[in-house]
Amino acid sequence: MKIRVEDIPKEGKELVFGWDDISLKTFITPHDPYNIRIDEPLFVRMFLVKEKNYIRVRGKIEGGFFARCHKCLEEFTYPVNIKIETFLYSQTDFRVDTEDEIELDKEDLNQEFFDGVEIDIDLVVAEEIFLSLPQVLVCSDNCKGLCPVCGSNRNFSDCGCVNVVRSPFAELLSLKKTLSS
Ligand SMILES: [Zn+2]
Ligand SMILES: [Zn+2]
Repeated sequence: MKIRVEDIPKEGKELVFGWDDISLKTFITPHDPYNIRIDEPLFVRMFLVKEKNYIRVRGKIEGGFFARCHKCLEEFTYPVNIKIETFLYSQTDFRVDTEDEIELDKEDLNQEFFDGVEIDIDLVVAEEIFLSLPQVLVCSDNCKGLCPVCGSNRNFSDCGCVNVVRSPFAELLSLKKTLSS
């Protein structure tokens, strides 16, 4: 979805829409290691307001998507609950007035750029989502991952494998024991 700046009325423009898997797939590679998938479209509510030299975007993105855990490779639901507070500046005439600088809270100052004519709403949503993600996606903070010995998921059962890194000396010692017994 694209919105032309000239189509944003003075009082602002509200957008309410669902953001689905098709939209998502235009922003991620087909070899996405997390296998991110949206089954139920994410709920997006956005309010665009034309300010003097930027477009202020406020709103929220809610729902969840499926992803594959980085540690155990199981699919899980990653909850999405994002508060949008973004300032879209035109690439062509980027300048920040002193006045605006005082007005904006530096802490959550989130600046994005666009061509000054048309706003790619899907891109705004994608950026909000990707910026909100942690560096690695895991099913839970307590995920035990896969057993490096037998490969089974240690969240489901304890396979009982003894995971010790054997040193060559340990190998020799056990060999010596075997020989002397
Ligand atoms: Zn996991
Ligand atoms: Zn194991």
